[in-house]
Amino acid sequence: METITETYLQSKLEDRRKRLQAAMATPAANTSIEALLTEVDAALERMRDGTFGICGQCHDTVEAERLIADPLVRMCLDHLDEQQRRALEQDLELASGVQRALLPPHDINAGGWKLHYCYEPAGIVSGDYCDVIPDGASGDVFFALGDVSGKGVAASLLMTQLHGIFRSLVNSNLPLDQLVARVSRLFCESTTAGQYATLVCGRASVSGAVELCNAGHLPVFLLRDGEVRSLEAKGMPLGMFGAGTYPSERLQLKRGESLVSYTDGLTESLDGASNEYGLRRLAQFLNGRDALEPEALTGACLAEVKNFSRGVRQHDDRTILVLRRN
Ligand SMILES: [Zn+2]
Repeated sequence: METITETYLQSKLEDRRKRLQAAMATPAANTSIEALLTEVDAALERMRDGTFGICGQCHDTVEAERLIADPLVRMCLDHLDEQQRRALEQDLELASGVQRALLPPHDINAGGWKLHYCYEPAGIVSGDYCDVIPDGASGDVFFALGDVSGKGVAASLLMTQLHGIFRSLVNSNLPLDQLVARVSRLFCESTTAGQYATLVCGRASVSGAVELCNAGHLPVFLLRDGEVRSLEAKGMPLGMFGAGTYPSERLQLKRGESLVSYTDGLTESLDGASNEYGLRRLAQFLNGRDALEPEALTGACLAEVKNFSRGVRQHDDRTILVLRRN
């Protein structure tokens, strides 16, 4: 474990220790609190003797995101007993259901725009964020696609956090750059050191204008006149620093033009010889596919990547979102 994370977990454990001791001083004190306190002390002891984060069974390292979620964890995922494994699987299924319920409808037609996305977690839960929010009053459509650092449960919790922050601020009528700066500040406060999210978001208006903000994410591809143009990031990832600027850019899309955004689970897919799929292949694949509707285009891209990496286990969440002017 990185020292900074361990220092953070140590202060968390010491804080919990105080709370447990305070709870024991009340008449409701019981043996389960005593047992917990013993476990907290044992974890602090492991920090002192340098065995914290090491599996008690195989002496391999315990998954960092599990330690962040619960610093009392002693075994790696491979060495849970049957009961612990079942409990963990049930928790994950529940978390996965919660996450899926946060996703927007797969097809959205609003304000002269057609949107479709595909969302494929590598595990049960995902660290990818995808949202589409039509504004009934103005006809504008807000869209966002992001990727939270790390994997597994910790990343999925942050993804949920990001979803909540955007949903609470998106109707505040803030200009896009200020909206993203505010989301970043709030996200920064809710993350631990070293966690961040890259993100592309935008507002598409009835007139065909799109205001786009790319915060440290992979380039967005614009399909125009049979060519693919790459729109690069102009801002830092969200949550890296409390203060950051997120310049947006304005585009004017004509009928039949599309914007394609995706997460690195697509472009970093590997083939059997560990070659990366890469940005260039994706841009080449998109080239000349302007005529495809969003659903057909997202499906074709995913099928292409899956074909490239056939026989290789998917190691990262894959999300792709296409927005097309009708
Ligand atoms: Zn183990």
